[in-house]
Amino acid sequence: MEPFVHRRSRDEANEASLFLLNPWVKEDETLTAGFTGRAGGVSAAPWSSLNMGLHVGDDNAAVVENRRRLAKALDWGFEALTCGEQVHGCAVQAIGAADAGRGRDSRTTAVPDTDALMTDEPGVLLVSFYADCVPLYFWDPLRRAVALAHAGWKGTVLEIARLTVEAMGERYGCKPEHIRAAIGPSIGDCCYEVDDNVLSRVRPLLQEIQTAGVAAEAEVIRPSEPGHGFINLKELNRQIMIKAGILPTHIELSEWCTGCRRDLFFSHRMEGGATGRMASWIGMEGR
Ligand SMILES: [Zn+2]
Repeated sequence: MEPFVHRRSRDEANEASLFLLNPWVKEDETLTAGFTGRAGGVSAAPWSSLNMGLHVGDDNAAVVENRRRLAKALDWGFEALTCGEQVHGCAVQAIGAADAGRGRDSRTTAVPDTDALMTDEPGVLLVSFYADCVPLYFWDPLRRAVALAHAGWKGTVLEIARLTVEAMGERYGCKPEHIRAAIGPSIGDCCYEVDDNVLSRVRPLLQEIQTAGVAAEAEVIRPSEPGHGFINLKELNRQIMIKAGILPTHIELSEWCTGCRRDLFFSHRMEGGATGRMASWIGMEGR
């Protein structure tokens, strides 16, 4: 069953459209996690309307209002939103209470050069931004720690999923077998054709995964014309998570394709680059 469930709004024009990570938030009422849709914001075309990205040429004030709508819809304070400056890298940053709120209304205060954020502080809402790339969520209910990682093809082949699991272990003492993971709405292999430049980076990683004995559930590469293929980044990240020690039964996998469902999501690839960004979020309420 699809883990990211569209929460119906009573006021679709004025309320952030949300996809809640239902299995987790139902299990733990103090946890919030999910993904925003494209409706319910104030941005004009081509960012209409719930654009969460400050880096795409949209009016800053509109983006900040959209982010405030996210906080309001979650019943969290806007001051809790904490963002990194994403660079398609693989750095993982620990967020303490003093970092809470960084990057929420300005890129200059965002945590620099990082695509993964983690925290064990209640009251911190980690947020990162997407238009086709794969949002990865991590939650250790025992150690009470959470993380978010942004994985495009570059972050995926740099194994940001594994590096996040390892960083949670080093910093918070999380054991991989206790960590829960989720792979959110992003571009599916139906819509994601790449060339040899990308395929040549993916193939060695697939070999390594096979050597490690991780069973594939679905093919990661589906060949198309010579030198090209469709790749399944969600499945590749799932296999990297399993290689890192996460139990297959602890991984939630979204079926939503951002390329197919432009009615609900922004898609960088399908909209020729000029579009908005969705946000992933995760946080634990203070006690
Ligand atoms: Zn698709």
